[in-house]
Amino acid sequence: MFKSIIFLMCIPYFCFADTCIDWFNESKISKNDKACESKCTTLQMEMSTFSCSQECEKFCNTKCEPNLYWKNKIKDGRPGKWEYNSEKTVEWSKDEKEPIEDLLARIPNNLIKLPLEGIYRMKKSIDIINPGSTSYDGKIIVLYNNTFEHPSWSIQDVLLHEIGHSIYEGYSSVDRQQYEKKLGWKKDNQGTYSKHGSFVSRRAHDNPTEDFAENFKYLLLNPEKLKSDNSQAFDWFNNRYKKQLKLKKECR
Ligand SMILES: [Zn+2]
Repeated sequence: MFKSIIFLMCIPYFCFADTCIDWFNESKISKNDKACESKCTTLQMEMSTFSCSQECEKFCNTKCEPNLYWKNKIKDGRPGKWEYNSEKTVEWSKDEKEPIEDLLARIPNNLIKLPLEGIYRMKKSIDIINPGSTSYDGKIIVLYNNTFEHPSWSIQDVLLHEIGHSIYEGYSSVDRQQYEKKLGWKKDNQGTYSKHGSFVSRRAHDNPTEDFAENFKYLLLNPEKLKSDNSQAFDWFNNRYKKQLKLKKECR
């Protein structure tokens, strides 16, 4: 009697987890198959296994290896063209480089068509509280001391925001205009932008470029917040990339 009660009592989470494990095992997809994840996500689902495709990453042995695109993107010295002459270059420390390499390795592969040439290290921005900058052509990202030292910032916050800028600058002007229109941005005769609508953060109010960089950062770091604070942006990314972009698993 007691046993049967235990058997019948099933905490919903564990029931769900077991259902998905069975669902994956029955498919006979090898965990080590290079196409494991794509095969898994297209497996047939029923009511009880409806959410299991979200677990595919867990079931497959996908190694988190940096894409070749990111190799040597962290650069020493001074970028060839940097418009702020008063900003001084400093050396990277090992402790600074490692978390950046780890984060770059986790960026989804379908995002790497950006114009970025290098990520450089400088001491202070001319705008004293600024933790990072991206050149107007999206080719150069600079991280300042504030990225690593200021309590308001984390490396993930700053780097993903700047990579967002680089992605946006890599879009065609038509794509950028479409983004502006879809998100409700308007430009007046003086070239000043305004938007009535929702924003994911205070910084996103500045202009479409900052809005994009912030939306991109939240999409990868806190998609639930983006979905609730700016669902138009969340939908825009999902439409553009045909799926929800997610950071890959941590490597170390
Ligand atoms: Zn910015």
